[in-house]
Amino acid sequence: MTGILLIPIVAREVEKEVITAVANYVRQFYSKFGLGVTSLPKISINRFSTGYNEIRGQFLGRVFLPVLGIIRNELGAKAIVGITDVDLYEEGLNFIFGLASPYSKAAIVSLYRLKPEFYGERKGKLLMDRAIKEVMHELGHVFGLEHCPNPKCVMHFSNSILDTDFKGRDYCDNCIKKLRGYLDD
Ligand SMILES: [Zn+2]
Ligand SMILES: [Zn+2]
Repeated sequence: MTGILLIPIVAREVEKEVITAVANYVRQFYSKFGLGVTSLPKISINRFSTGYNEIRGQFLGRVFLPVLGIIRNELGAKAIVGITDVDLYEEGLNFIFGLASPYSKAAIVSLYRLKPEFYGERKGKLLMDRAIKEVMHELGHVFGLEHCPNPKCVMHFSNSILDTDFKGRDYCDNCIKKLRGYLDD
């Protein structure tokens, strides 16, 4: 398993269709770089209970990264992305959509605020589209990309779901060039 790993981290449910849609999209893009995508069996959120903040009802994002980094390392993969249904936060931020570390080559993405229901919207394909964007974004960070000023680039920072919906699923030409440099090293 030398490529990219996806792993559901589940409290109640991480929908299979979301993982499949994300895996397919990431695979078609990263195959250009010779990287495959493997979906691992789900693990329980209980493994990350030290990250739970009872007052906020959220999990601290950074708690996930070292554990995911160990799983990635054991399997000899280039990157790992955890996809969870719980809400995440970081110090000084009300919430985060996701978080990544280029050092542990690990990322976590929360579906909690990507769900149309969260905003009173109708359930549908929107969740898949948003999940693809957030996973592509965090993977970009894993491989060394920083935020991009181009609002259509997937590496643009999302302050709110409106930014996520506005941006595309792909890296802009500038980011692709950098990505190529990082991945060819
Ligand atoms: Zn980011
Ligand atoms: Zn860009």
